Amino acid sequence: MTDPSNTGISGANTTFGGATHLECTRCGAMYESEVLHRLSPCCEKPLYPRYALDLIGGRLRRGDLAGRSADLWRYAELLPVRDPANAVRLGEGFTPMIDAPRLASRLGVAQCWVKDEGQNPTASFKARGLCMAISRAKELGVTEVGIPSAGNAGSATAAYAAAAGMTAHVVVPNDTPHPIIEEMRALGADVELLAGLITDCAARVAEGTRDHGWFDLSTLKEPYRVEGKKTMGYEVAEQLGWTLPDVIVYPTGGGTGLVGMWKAFDEMERLGWIGPERPRMVCVQAEGCAPMVRAFEQGTEYAEPWVDAHTYASGLRVPRAVGDFLILDALRSSGGAALAVSDDEMREWTRIVGADTGVFCAPEGAATAVATARLRQLGAIRPDDRVVLFNTGSGLKYVV
Ligand SMILES: *Cc1c(COP(=O)(O)O)cnc(C)c1O
Repeated sequence: MTDPSNTGISGANTTFGGATHLECTRCGAMYESEVLHRLSPCCEKPLYPRYALDLIGGRLRRGDLAGRSADLWRYAELLPVRDPANAVRLGEGFTPMIDAPRLASRLGVAQCWVKDEGQNPTASFKARGLCMAISRAKELGVTEVGIPSAGNAGSATAAYAAAAGMTAHVVVPNDTPHPIIEEMRALGADVELLAGLITDCAARVAEGTRDHGWFDLSTLKEPYRVEGKKTMGYEVAEQLGWTLPDVIVYPTGGGTGLVGMWKAFDEMERLGWIGPERPRMVCVQAEGCAPMVRAFEQGTEYAEPWVDAHTYASGLRVPRAVGDFLILDALRSSGGAALAVSDDEMREWTRIVGADTGVFCAPEGAATAVATARLRQLGAIRPDDRVVLFNTGSGLKYVV
């Protein structure tokens, strides 16, 4: 284990710290953070980096963040990268929280913001996770990475690998939106198209890992993508003046962002930056692929894989999530909800959200507005609620 007193903090200036250790999300077993890990050896479940939060909280006040760089590295003390030279930076994070009063009144809620993740590098929030995973992989000596993707994770990998000087192998379904395939190629990745789903692509990447020594960046199968995505939780709090909304609506595939934000809220409470309050977390999926919704409704701890997954919202076409139990736990302990929406509703609401807010959202982003409207009708979202909708990518990537 690394010396926990070595937090790397010096005054109010941004200082890189790093985790003290990794922890199995299933059984709590601890692992050394300075060697490459994938799933926990004990339970084959995701590993979470842990930090010396009491020490960091004692020295770093939330007000110290003002004036720092307007990207996710403003939270460097709470991130796993140790040496600033290994931070691969393309302008990721600190995306705008857009106040959307006309959408709020259409939806019948007190206030509504669109967190516009389409403004990230490669136009989706996948930039956050892949930025962190590739920065850490670089720090630990990796030179060649592989990733199965529904599309956006592939282009983020291609971009950060290019910036880091690494070789990237991306395996995507052959019906991935064309702009994304062009983008990955332009960013220098080795792109392989497969007839099948992201789960089939994962099997192909596993072969590359075994036969060619690629480091596999699959969601939650390495410990650092979630650390990039958790910064959305820090940003929501900071951008709302260190309060949290009543509801966060999140389009869920692998669920990294949802569980990442849930982790961030706990960290912020330990740091003394927020209290014990939490937003209700809402998971939105597509009717053609809704394994989390089904498991939530059935009350199970894990989710069965979804057979015959189909939806044009490629980020939601994820039949099996390795972090299923973490997603379901966050939904239940927050008093949240899970629901599925149709592709037609996503198409319709892309235009409604666009005309109400000025944001051309991805279908996954539009799904959050559909879900909010439905939950208002059902009474699970109330007229006095303040709601954050995650637009996870730009609509431009889906234009065919
Ligand atoms: C990947 C993706 C999602 C799902 O994100 P997870 O954190 O894996 O649940 C949602 N929207 C878009 C645009 C995506 O690319």
